[in-house]
Amino acid sequence: MSLFIASLNSGSNANCYYIGNRTEAILVDAGLSCRETERRMKQLNLSMKMVRALFISHEHSDHITGLPGLVKKYQLPVFITPDTLVNCNLPLDRELTRSFKHAKPVHIGSISVTPFKKSHDAADPYSFMVSGNSVNIGIITDIGYACKRVLKYFSQCHAAFLESNYCEDMLMNGNYPYPLKKRISGDEGHLSNNQALDLFINYRSANLQLLILSHLSKNNNKPELVKKLFNPHAGSTQIVIASRYEASPVFEVSFAANNKQIQAQNLRKGKNNNREKNQTQLSLF
Ligand SMILES: [Zn+2]
Ligand SMILES: [Zn+2]
Repeated sequence: MSLFIASLNSGSNANCYYIGNRTEAILVDAGLSCRETERRMKQLNLSMKMVRALFISHEHSDHITGLPGLVKKYQLPVFITPDTLVNCNLPLDRELTRSFKHAKPVHIGSISVTPFKKSHDAADPYSFMVSGNSVNIGIITDIGYACKRVLKYFSQCHAAFLESNYCEDMLMNGNYPYPLKKRISGDEGHLSNNQALDLFINYRSANLQLLILSHLSKNNNKPELVKKLFNPHAGSTQIVIASRYEASPVFEVSFAANNKQIQAQNLRKGKNNNREKNQTQLSLF
């Protein structure tokens, strides 16, 4: 009764998130090159053979750069809306592209993916909730603010990749030109640390076991700052910061039906940790 999740990279340089069960998986966004996606998955003992589909949230380059390479090599179906596809302007085999609609779940084997519209300055942008084995995972980045759809889906999540893009003080006092500051902090820009914290404090489910804070700005944020902000409010939720430079560990998010308790398990941290290594081998294919 688990899903396995990892960030392969997260930030304005590249985004790619893995969500799978024991036999099938999807990738949300394809911002890393095909080769780098493969390399990072191998590091985590994850196999591209398990990946059945790619889902694209919007056309910004940090979400699509690796898409043509992945599609060409693996001939995977790409779930992408027509407006996003047009604005991607990439050479994709149209026979492999599939559309999706707001709030209409797409089934990939026993995994279901519910797209929901988000507020961001792209043609037709979506967040996703991925469900399987009684577990819901949110992929909620690149949002200007937490609209009512975000509140609805985030509050159902057992784990979530949630944007915590910028520190308001760092952005306002930094050297970005004013129009860019306005764009980032606007309703179609990115979610600040305080906005993410507000969402976490007020709308998390009692079952939210893992929060992976994602898409941190290089120039207007610091991982330590985010940790310091969230840790006092963590309660029973494990807080993790997704890196702009490397993959996260694989986390097992499970629903224990007998006692209604949820457990997040970090399956792989260091090569020298035999117990964790064994768990990885046992749990992952
Ligand atoms: Zn982005
Ligand atoms: Zn974006």
